[in-house]
Amino acid sequence: MSDAKPTCPQCSRKIMQSVSNRCMYCGASLPEEHHLTAEEKNQPLKEKLEMFKRNEENAEEIISGMRKGMGMPERKKPKQKKSDSAQRVEDALADNSNHLKS
Ligand SMILES: [Zn+2]
Repeated sequence: MSDAKPTCPQCSRKIMQSVSNRCMYCGASLPEEHHLTAEEKNQPLKEKLEMFKRNEENAEEIISGMRKGMGMPERKKPKQKKSDSAQRVEDALADNSNHLKS
């Protein structure tokens, strides 16, 4: 079936499911059946955050391993220090949640 893809009621172009409940072409509000839930909208951000956390853990392990390999002492790191980009992702996630509630 070629008509399976949902289309915009206003401009009839293919609906791209995104963070917006509006048509990305003409800006028309899309029917509720095409809306993403708040969770679905946050999913890409969450995945990014998870990916970042994993990378950060890996980076720590790699660096730690390198230091041991070179006979260097372990570097002590302040515990709850976050890098800027991790904080930014979390901020964006919180912003998005607040935005969706209103
Ligand atoms: Zn449209």
